[in-house]
Amino acid sequence: MSNNSDRMDKYSTPLRQTIDRIGSTCTDCGACQADCAFLQHYGTPKAIIEKYDFSDPANQQLAFECSLCGLCGAVCPEKLDPGELFLAIRREAVIHENGNFASYRTILAYEKRGSSALFSYYGLPDGCDTVFFPGCTLPGTRPESTWRLFAHLQRSIPALGIVFDCCTKPSHDLGRQDHFDRMFAEMRDYLCSNGVRRVLTACPNCHKIFKQYGNGLAVETVYEILSRGELPAAARGDGELAIHDPCPLRRESAVQDSVRTILRRMGITVTEMKHRRGRTLCCGEGGSVGFMRPELARNWRLIRSREAQGRKLVTYCAGCAGFLNRKTPTVHLADVLFFPEKALNGSMRGAGSPLTYINRLILKRRFKKNLAAATQRAGRNPI
Ligand code: SF4
Ligand code: SF4
Repeated sequence: MSNNSDRMDKYSTPLRQTIDRIGSTCTDCGACQADCAFLQHYGTPKAIIEKYDFSDPANQQLAFECSLCGLCGAVCPEKLDPGELFLAIRREAVIHENGNFASYRTILAYEKRGSSALFSYYGLPDGCDTVFFPGCTLPGTRPESTWRLFAHLQRSIPALGIVFDCCTKPSHDLGRQDHFDRMFAEMRDYLCSNGVRRVLTACPNCHKIFKQYGNGLAVETVYEILSRGELPAAARGDGELAIHDPCPLRRESAVQDSVRTILRRMGITVTEMKHRRGRTLCCGEGGSVGFMRPELARNWRLIRSREAQGRKLVTYCAGCAGFLNRKTPTVHLADVLFFPEKALNGSMRGAGSPLTYINRLILKRRFKKNLAAATQRAGRNPI
């Protein structure tokens, strides 16, 4: 095996800088391994850096087994973020055309459809400076809750616009940075050039992307808006729910507080998981790991299920809700807000594919018909 400095010469500058920073600071303490089966298998970040030559395509593949959940970064006493290392290695694989994208056909097709002329839609009323960006999964699995969420927000933001499009996070997380940059910049520039200044998100993944790449766009979750305003008339309940915080929002304490405030204002008893807020766990869907190492994805879900200890979960990510619900009864906050009785008694579930696609088409048509949009456009990818 070549020595470390020989290897470093073969890496791109971003990967070299990331390896330099993490390799020189990591103390091998092992704190990040405690709850991560991926790091338990491969070793601490320092050990991984020393052992593997990441110019070798075979070694690059291990980075696709990390969920990019950020838990390691939340617990590291040296304030390192090892997830950055694995994302940088994914990007390295793409630069050298070593990405194994046949395995990700399903998720990349999902992303592409999200931005297609068929599924996407921008409806911006006169004077619109704020849009609701519900993402792909919430409208597909819960079209009625999405519709009601918009209608409720519109009461306090009359010129609220709607954007159905994909934030392209799957490509971002698979290391397809050039593709992501191109797609996201096009959307962001379109919004900005049409007077949009604020984006309201319901999906944690979209939220994280807009926060990181929004370039001046103000970004808030719909839950923050709801928590400080009037709740929907239907939002009353008397059950008990344990909160699963989605990992993309682990650093967003204001969002976490808002969700708890909403549930308490509804009359619901909120209980906490062992891993919560900044130290929450991945549900198993993160980083598209399930396409590469499904057992690692299932392992995250199993840990969550054990922590639930028989309690029903509530979350504010449609992806988490779908994945966790296969093992532990899990409801989405949007359903709890608008259909509390059905959500709490377990008779309400998110739709599955292919119904999700039909739901999105019907919802798009509903918005086109009912929203007085001065500016409209349908998406960017031909399908
Ligand atoms: S980001 Fe998550 S899955 Fe990846 S190494 Fe860190 S804790 Fe493990
Ligand atoms: S917690 Fe931080 S210092 Fe400790 S092994 Fe992990 S990356 Fe290294």
